[in-house]
Amino acid sequence: MNSAESAQKHRLRMQRKKAVVDAAIARADQDRGVLLVLTGNGKGKSSSAFGMVARALGHGLRVGVAQFVKGRSDTGEEAFLGRQPEVVWRVLGEGFSWETQDLARDAETAQRGWAVVRDMLRDDSLGLVVVDELTYVLKRGWLDLPTVLADLAVRPPMQHVVITGRGAPEALCEAADTVSELRDVKHAFRAGVRAQKGIDL
Ligand code: ATP
Ligand code: MG
Repeated sequence: MNSAESAQKHRLRMQRKKAVVDAAIARADQDRGVLLVLTGNGKGKSSSAFGMVARALGHGLRVGVAQFVKGRSDTGEEAFLGRQPEVVWRVLGEGFSWETQDLARDAETAQRGWAVVRDMLRDDSLGLVVVDELTYVLKRGWLDLPTVLADLAVRPPMQHVVITGRGAPEALCEAADTVSELRDVKHAFRAGVRAQKGIDL
């Protein structure tokens, strides 16, 4: 094949590809709130969610962020996003009883936390709601999954929700519109690098 022939072949292939892509774009004609689940053992779930917070703010949306696990209070995302006027930032994990392992008390803390999320899911001034580490409380049985799914289902039609955390339950993934699983290929921590500001914190 000479170069003119291969250029022509490439052009035809690209034309066919463009027709397929254009048709797919034309088919996607709905506007509505989407439910996203970011799960898996790889790094990038919460940071992806906070990236979407920045995007949403850039488009003028109000955003609610609810974090079920308070690992530490010196994270860059809380320092920066938490002080934005259009962000409502709530930490819901305070009071989990790491030491006493008091199941009833932890379930109560989780349920109080979910009540805060439920208020966000009923607030149509919030264009995006992030529920960080929700799977953590679901896995421990501190929250009832059917209740969570029911509250998500009746949220305002244009409200987007991002849920993060390892091991998302199947029913949650089924209810979601977009599910991404972050795969752990490598992590610097295992090479002895402690959590770095701007990357992990
Ligand atoms: P990030 O907040 O950085 O996007 P994540 O939300 O995907 O991470 P989590 O399970 O919430 O992951 O863990 C949070 C912290 O644990 C971060 O400091 C992150 O770098 C670290 N981490 C995430 N995945 C791994 C892993 N596979 N091995 C070791 N540490 C990890
Ligand atoms: Mg996370």
